[in-house]
Amino acid sequence: MKEISTKLLVLGGGPGGYVAALRAAQLGVPTTLVEAQALGGTCLNIGCIPSKALIHVAESFRQARGFAADSALGIRTAAPTLDLAQAVRWKDGIVKRLTGGVAALLKKSGVRVVQGRGHIVDGKTVEVEGAGEDGAALRLRCEHLLLATGSVPVELPGLPFGGRVISSTEALSPAALPRRLVVVGAGYIGLELGIAYRKMGAEVAVVEATERVLPAYDAELTRPVLAGLKRLGMVLHLGCSVQGLTGDGSAVRVRTPTADEFALPADLVLVAAGRRPNTQGFGLESLLLEMAGRAVKIDDRCRTSMRRVWAIGDLSGEPMLAHRAMAQGEMVAELIAGHERRWMPAAIPAICFTDPEVVVVGQSPEAAAQAGVDAIDAAFPLAANGRALTLQAGEGFVRVVARRDNHLVLGWQAAGQGVAELAAAFAQSLEMGARLEDVAGTIHAHPTLGEAVQEAALRALGRALHV
Ligand code: FAD
Ligand code: NAD
Repeated sequence: MKEISTKLLVLGGGPGGYVAALRAAQLGVPTTLVEAQALGGTCLNIGCIPSKALIHVAESFRQARGFAADSALGIRTAAPTLDLAQAVRWKDGIVKRLTGGVAALLKKSGVRVVQGRGHIVDGKTVEVEGAGEDGAALRLRCEHLLLATGSVPVELPGLPFGGRVISSTEALSPAALPRRLVVVGAGYIGLELGIAYRKMGAEVAVVEATERVLPAYDAELTRPVLAGLKRLGMVLHLGCSVQGLTGDGSAVRVRTPTADEFALPADLVLVAAGRRPNTQGFGLESLLLEMAGRAVKIDDRCRTSMRRVWAIGDLSGEPMLAHRAMAQGEMVAELIAGHERRWMPAAIPAICFTDPEVVVVGQSPEAAAQAGVDAIDAAFPLAANGRALTLQAGEGFVRVVARRDNHLVLGWQAAGQGVAELAAAFAQSLEMGARLEDVAGTIHAHPTLGEAVQEAALRALGRALHV
């Protein structure tokens, strides 16, 4: 068996793994990356990027249909149609462009990319089937092993994937639009894709086990999302659990909070009940690493319980977000290159690309109270923001949380159309230790949604100007 030695071996080429490899190569660390499927991982191929592309298609179609029906803007069109095959091709084109870009960057920076499924032999050895000469296995030896194998969708016992029960992967490449889609789980994926399918024309019902949509966010923040779901005509079954399909497979059996059962007709069922770290089937178990639940346990340097074996991204648990994986990857590469680093971000932004969008960075008022911090908070409504009104986006708000004593900003939350782009300003203010006065005293360009950020800070200081 052919054997190759490398200093850093990265297993998995998602945002965590490929960023780690790029940064390591920048720093002169000889690096090999093994990827079983496609560079870019879940995020670029079957996650963040294709979902946002489909969301854009769906919103554009909704707008066009709105123009045809009754446009307040005075735009008149005939009834539009959606060429779904073309929409999927367009989405695939973006994915291809980005994954091709990752491949080019890795090549240019000198990372050796091995295509194939890696099997862990021990903490310093990985074998890749079919990657050697004449289709034989290739043995890779390393000084540092970085595990970045991501996550997989959770399968529900009563609704195994197959047939009309699909995961987000299949939902991102529809061959045809179902007439009736049942979504299980009102979290990130269920709502982002459920809304997109509704806007493209499907009837969408959502079954959620808890009493609220997006249960990870506070109720005030999700209220505009709830209003949006109702406006779109989506049907919600909250506090309900799914039992399985009916005998003929044409409906989902749903149990209500009062233990009654009913059948919810479905041509397609999207199960979006969470994701779990990808730890099985490639020899990881043999390392006997300490685990934190289903995730590989890591410390504040992404070190596992085994020396020189590191883990990043979804494999290391929540929050399962691409930008966290990338930041961890960058840190591990720098540590291996000899830099002094530690994982201590002020906050990891989270955005749900619903309609309207929801952004959370840092502490909510409840989280601050629970942490025993004496905090103040203030919200500025987008209805009072000129730019929002010109974009027909006057619903929602921007909220700031700060310490009462010294006004140090602790967190930002926002709900509204286009607020995802405010995440950069929110994260920067936290990372730089801004106080309310810093944000309030910064000249924000007019007319922009960013003025709502400044106004929220002004309001927290008791001197909002436009509300
Ligand atoms: P992954 O991206 O999962 O990459 C892991 C890679 O490892 C894969 O390419 C896999 O093929 C490879 N691999 C696994 N085992 C082996 C092996 N034995 N040998 C070789 N290779 C292997 N996050 C956001 O921040 N924003 C979003 O908008 C967003 N939207 C999402 C939408 C959807 C529908 C989904 C499913 C996820 C979304 N996420 C989003 C989450 C995001 O995709 C993940 O957090 C991110 O991809 C995690 O990166 P990772 O590098 O840890 O793992
Ligand atoms: P999620 O954790 O966001 O939501 C899962 C939802 O399903 C929860 O509300 C949960 O209460 C519900 N649920 C669980 N079991 C259920 C059952 N049996 N019946 C009914 N409801 C049930 O998970 P997800 O939407 O699958 O997304 C997985 C992960 O992917 C997210 O945690 C996130 O990290 C990542 N993601 C991020 C983005 C983004 O950043 N915009 C988008 C998509 C996915």
